[in-house]
Amino acid sequence: MKFQSKFAMAIALASSLTLTGCSLFAMSTATTLVSTGMTVGSLTLQSNRMMNHLNQFQNIAESHQGNRATGTKGGEASAQYILDHIKKTGYEVQIIAFENRDKVIGQNILVEIKGKDQDHATLIGAHYDSVKMGPGINDNASGTALLMDFIEEMSSKKIQPEHSIYVAFWDSEEQGIAGSQAYAEHLTEQQLKAIKAYINVDMVGTKDPEILIADADKSSVDEMEKQLQQRGMSEQDYKPLLDGLRKLPSHTGDQALEDELKTFFKSKNLKIKEDVSTLTASDTAAFLGKVPVASLILFHEQMKGDVLEFAPCYHTICDRVDTVDPKSMQLAAEALVHLVDYVDHH
Ligand SMILES: [Zn+2]
Repeated sequence: MKFQSKFAMAIALASSLTLTGCSLFAMSTATTLVSTGMTVGSLTLQSNRMMNHLNQFQNIAESHQGNRATGTKGGEASAQYILDHIKKTGYEVQIIAFENRDKVIGQNILVEIKGKDQDHATLIGAHYDSVKMGPGINDNASGTALLMDFIEEMSSKKIQPEHSIYVAFWDSEEQGIAGSQAYAEHLTEQQLKAIKAYINVDMVGTKDPEILIADADKSSVDEMEKQLQQRGMSEQDYKPLLDGLRKLPSHTGDQALEDELKTFFKSKNLKIKEDVSTLTASDTAAFLGKVPVASLILFHEQMKGDVLEFAPCYHTICDRVDTVDPKSMQLAAEALVHLVDYVDHH
């Protein structure tokens, strides 16, 4: 998660360098053994396995100057850790290099799980880089570990989805949301049309979470306006911010994803918060208006002095494994499985 401010609107455009075989459907035609009858929805992800990955990411940070930022040894070791695990699954993997705004080379990792129909795909993504100020375990080794468990379980249960699933581990989200931008800006019209949804996973280990759901019709901005009025903020102060949020690109397919996630969390008797401001603060920014977008983000906001902290230890040295609640990881994993299954069958 990368916030310039609560209302960060800037979408930094990454200048891309070498895109090796960036095409969404350009991977090999090798087939893998599949079991029949099992759907994505039958997957059981487990937080204990995810916590093992989180411990490993923390070890990586600790042995590399305390962080896993893009272009650092800790960043490279994180990419290698992901690759070592994905290789064992037998799925095709692409490493796509790009250059961010600071002229640092980042590398996205893209994994392909072939579907029965390979002309349409679900794209799921999480950034694996941390800020330089800390190990980035909740932000966002948590999303990374969740997607690793997803891939590893799809492989071990030999599940073939109806449509292909691409899982992206983005680099340099913390520096300009650069990895996902570099990838998205090279997709053709035809490739964009083939993507059924982009689902973003960021900061899913937050304890006592507030569940943020991407607000497709931006109705929550009206609510925000009321609150700001009540707090006595003048219209000329808040209007530009809210107008910016209202003008964010959207896609006709966004609403169905929002409704599906709401139904899921309501079935668990959990409260959700419709949110717009996080859309430009993570890798969803790269896909807004281009493909249907949804995200799983867990916050626990509190004021630290006069600064709003999105979750405990956000972007600091203490964003360690002990800030992560396995129950939150488990909940986010179940939500992801539910949503991917929904998209796969629609
Ligand atoms: Zn972040």
